[in-house]
Amino acid sequence: MYNIYMTTAYTFLPSPQHEYPDHPERPGRLDVLTPKLDSFHAERLDFTPAKHEEIARVHLPRLITGLERVCREQAPGIIDYAPTYVTQTSFDDAMLAAGATMSCSRAVVNGEVDNAFAIVRPPGHHAEPDKAMGFCLFNNVAVAARDALAQGLERVLVVDYDAHHGNGTQAAFLEDERAAYLSTHQWGIYPGTGWIDDAPQARKRIVNVPLPAFAGDQVIKRVADGIIQPMVELFKPEMIFVSAGFDAHWSDPLTSLGFSSAGFFGISKHLVELAGEHCDGKIVFVLEGGYDPTNVANGVGAVFAALAGSGPAFDAGDPCPRGEPDFEARLEEIRTWHGF
Ligand SMILES: [Zn+2]
Repeated sequence: MYNIYMTTAYTFLPSPQHEYPDHPERPGRLDVLTPKLDSFHAERLDFTPAKHEEIARVHLPRLITGLERVCREQAPGIIDYAPTYVTQTSFDDAMLAAGATMSCSRAVVNGEVDNAFAIVRPPGHHAEPDKAMGFCLFNNVAVAARDALAQGLERVLVVDYDAHHGNGTQAAFLEDERAAYLSTHQWGIYPGTGWIDDAPQARKRIVNVPLPAFAGDQVIKRVADGIIQPMVELFKPEMIFVSAGFDAHWSDPLTSLGFSSAGFFGISKHLVELAGEHCDGKIVFVLEGGYDPTNVANGVGAVFAALAGSGPAFDAGDPCPRGEPDFEARLEEIRTWHGF
């Protein structure tokens, strides 16, 4: 008999020593979430640090050894203008974050659980093959996606609804036809990449959806129906990864999108359903940004509700107080550019 109740797993890596004075990417991001973790009825998985060669499936060896040396010998300090910081534990924390993400994806690939959520920091989607940047050291989701390919999958898709463009994930997969990437992000903010025509050599496979300020729950639903759905039908991924950034919430202190927690539930549920239709249910969420601790806790709750595959819709009662901009013209422009 078909079991409608999903088995969900998660890993949790708060990295309490990876912090820097007055920096928004701080351990306190998870303070509201942490006492709620037991209420999600998901199985907590153990993990070990990623191995050097596993990180090297995405990053250049000189970045890995260079970051380790900087952390051991020069930390604490700032390594780019974002600003991205490192402490003496940051290299170890980043290896653990990638390992915790792979622990989730391997459990899903091996069929031990239906789906999973890697709740880790430091985040990863800005980290490029040769460069740590944007509060990110190693690209957790890209490392886990490459690991899933190494385990035998032939095609994987990463969907990124963080408020910022995942330039690192795009760079990692630009020439890799086994991997597809779709990012929604506020246009005009850090890191400045992610326009529609960023990757003309990879139409239908690297898909950027730049959003105007205050785009939220209605716009992301249009994107899911009009872009993500046809992209999945054409690319036929065997597994979906989601870079889940809750800085797309309307009250995030760093950005100006218009998502509510119900909107995070809606897009997450749509992705879980797509994975059910096309990927035998295989989907792994990975925490990226989100700088208000209440929004992070609600967003994670929304994802767990979506992963459960049953039960009521998640709504934290935090609707965006502003109306959303019209998105139809840009939606058509993106669909036309890719031929969806
Ligand atoms: Zn972000």
